[in-house]
Formats: sequence, structure tokens, C-alpha cells
Amino acid sequence: MRHIAIIGSGPAGYYTAEAAQKQFGEDVRVDIFDMLPVPYGLIRTGVAPDHQSIKGVSRRYESTALSENVRFVGNVMVGKDVTVEELQGLYDAVVLATGAPHDRKMDLPGEELPGVYGSAAFVGWYNGHPMFANLDPDLTGDTAVVIGMGNVALDVARILSKTREEFAGSDIVAHALDVLQTSRLRRIVVLGRRGPHQIMMTPKELGELSHLTRAAPRVDPQDLPDEGDDALLEPGLRKSVTHLRSFAAIPASHYADMGIEVEFDFFASPKAILGTDKVTGIEVERTVVEAGRAVGTGEVYTIPASLVVCCIGYQTSRIPGVPFDERAGRFPNDEGRILPGLYCVGWARRGPSGTIGTNRPDGFSVVEKIAEDIGLGSGKRGRAGFDELAAARSLDVVTFRDWQKIDEQEVARARDGAPREKFVHVGDMIAARGNS
Ligand code: NAP
Repeated sequence: MRHIAIIGSGPAGYYTAEAAQKQFGEDVRVDIFDMLPVPYGLIRTGVAPDHQSIKGVSRRYESTALSENVRFVGNVMVGKDVTVEELQGLYDAVVLATGAPHDRKMDLPGEELPGVYGSAAFVGWYNGHPMFANLDPDLTGDTAVVIGMGNVALDVARILSKTREEFAGSDIVAHALDVLQTSRLRRIVVLGRRGPHQIMMTPKELGELSHLTRAAPRVDPQDLPDEGDDALLEPGLRKSVTHLRSFAAIPASHYADMGIEVEFDFFASPKAILGTDKVTGIEVERTVVEAGRAVGTGEVYTIPASLVVCCIGYQTSRIPGVPFDERAGRFPNDEGRILPGLYCVGWARRGPSGTIGTNRPDGFSVVEKIAEDIGLGSGKRGRAGFDELAAARSLDVVTFRDWQKIDEQEVARARDGAPREKFVHVGDMIAARGNS
């Protein structure tokens, strides 16, 4: 029998479990650990609440989760409740599928001011992540600045733009919906240090900005390169740039009917966040792009703003005893291998890029490495050994059946039209499982 521990129950974790089942059939036992009492990681707390079709992928993970040889071990924090070294003593392979839940820092003066958030915190807030449930951002100012030209920046700009009615069918948490309703934002500036040809936004997500009830995107036609140059772009980026061109063609009169402008400010590199006891603006330097890099021109200007959300990418959590690549913000690895018996997968392996589906081949590839390395298994104790350790430490393990009860309760308390109302505090999640 082979015993595998997977740390993290997001897409990378479940695809790795699925791959292990396919590879080893009945001859494997997989335990999937999560620090939260609820599974699915990024699907639950990262994917935008108004992107329910993407969140629906979790149904696919259910068939893996409910099979006999895979088990969810929720409410257990690896590195605190149990160490990686202890797990390595119990399991033939330990796979870190911990994603990239921390914000990369901008290293700008003023970054710590109230009103400045990283996207992990801001997205976690509107998605009900227990760590960020109390964020309570102030949206009563006129202008928000969103830094970054990736899909997360688009998510944040779109969520800030939507009306209550536009959240019908989403699982945005009640506390976020209430605060968003107090919003007096009229301008959301999306700041990119490079130009339209260097955006990371994908076409479908960019196109959504054209269909908002009270907000419209604005692009300065002068920022767009010659249309002929678009032919050199790869097809996805070319489609995205076509959206930007359509935004640039929106007549000025259209904005008069709209409450909010989502303004793309290209060639704009943030230099400092301004303010004394809270953010009041951001200082930006105009850039030109040379050989693909943003180069400052020395022209500096200020955008007054009461909210700044930095969407510039993520890094993996450090885990005591596991090497960490500071610069890349992930675990150093050779095709998923970190150390003998220790592996990583998904964003923890390759950094925060790609779609959810990208994690599937990643999971299958790391399981191939595990198969090469562990053979038939080495007689380790696996889940029986962990259960003893959990009992000795009085760990309150949440099982997948428990999660199903929490899930039922979340669905039962959903407001009209919403798929669920999430519990946003760990204590409430645990209480919702009842006496199992
Ligand atoms: P991303 O796609 O890597 O975009 C990060 C953006 O931040 C880039 O525009 C980058 O500009 C900018 N940036 C980085 N450092 C900066 C700095 N110091 N100053 C100013 N700008 C800076 O990251 P993401 O948006 O966090 O997305 C992460 C992954 O999740 C991506 O693969 C994304 O597609 C995926 N995602 C997908 C969806 C969806 O499919 N609906 C939704 C959300 C996220 P440079 O290019 O100049 O470095």
C-alpha cells in the first residue's frame, strides 16, 4: 500500500489525488489536508463569486473526494498542528499543494497605510475567507486604484463596479454585498506599468466590462499601438487588445449615462502611496516600454484615491522545515520534487499562473514522479498513524462528510437567487457540521 499526504484541497490538491487514484488504483490511500474546515481552496475563496460556472469545477472533485481511498482532513494546519517532517514519517509522499495565498509586496512607501490592500486580502474579503472577513474596506470615496493588468485586477474592478442586482446568482458574501452597496466610487483606475500589448488579461474576462449596468471601461486611443502591430500578438492577447480598441471607441456621451468609469491607465508605474493616517492618493511615474520593459520617463503625477488594491501576483506560504525560493515566492523544485519524499504541485510549484485546468497535467506529472520514487510503498503507517497523532493532540479534524453538512447549511441559508451564503468564521463552520 502507498500512502500519500496532499497539503491543500484546492484544484492542485484534488487533481493530484485524482491522478494518484488513476495511477495506483486501489493500492493507494490519499489524505488531503486543509487548514480550513472547508475544501476547495482557490475555487471557494479565489475565483470571483460572479463566476459560478468556474466554481462549478468543484463538483468534479467531489467524485474523487467521496471515493474510499481519498479522505479530506480539514481544520488541520500543517506546520502548526503537525509538521511536514512528521507527515514524512507517516506517508511515502507528501505533496505541497498550498497554492499561493499571500500577496507579493510592491515595496512602495505608504504600502502599509489603511485603505491599501493586496488582492489576496481584498478577494478573500468578498469571497468570505475567514482570514479577511473583517477587512471592512471604506468605499465611500470617489476613486479607487487597482494596480496590475491581470485577471485578478479585472475581477476586483468588476466586483467594485457591479450593482446589487448584478450579483444575483453569485455567492458573494453578505458582508461584502452590504459594504459594496454603500459604495460612492465613480472612478476605478486600473494601473499598468506597461502598455496594451503587455496586458495579462484574457478576452472573455475583459469583455465582461462591456456589459455592466452602471460602469463602462475607458481607454485613451492614444495609448493604443498601431493596429497593424496586433497581428504579431498571440491570438488570445490579440483578442484582448481588440476589446481595448472597442473600449477606446466608446463615445464620450456614453459615460454620461454611467455612474462609474473603469479607466485603463497604461504606461503608469506606481512610485508611492500617499497619505498620513490613511491612503489619499498614489504617485505614479509615466513610462515607456523598451525591449518589453517599463522604463520611467521622469514625468510624475498623482491620482487622488481612497482605496488602492494591489493585484500584482501572489506567493506561496512558507512552511517550517521546507526550503523556500524567496525571489520566485514558491518552493524550489525539480519538476515537482523538492526533497526525497517531498513534492510540490500547482502554484506552489510553478508560481501563480495559468488557469485552474493547468493544474490537472501538473498533478498527473507529479504523480508520475511519485510512482518512480516510491515503488510499492515502504510500509509506512499512513492515515492510521496520523489518526493516532491527531487523537494524542486532540485535533478537531473535519471530514468530507462534515463538510457536506456545512455545505447543506450554507445552501439552506442562501439569500434568494444565490447558490449559498458562506460561513465566514471557522467557529461557525465547525458549529454547522453539528454533532457528527
Ligand atoms: P498576473 O496575470 O501575473 O498579472 C499581474 C499584473 O501585475 C501584471 O499586469 C504585472 O505587470 C503587474 N505587476 C507585477 N508587479 C508589478 C509592480 N511592481 N508594479 C506594477 N504592476 C506590477 O497575476 P494575477 O492577475 O494575480 O493572476 C494570477 C493568475 O490567476 C493568472 O494566471 C490569471 O490568469 C489567473 N486568474 C484567472 C482568472 C480567470 O480566468 N477568470 C481570474 C483571476 C485570476 P507586468 O506584466 O508589467 O509585470
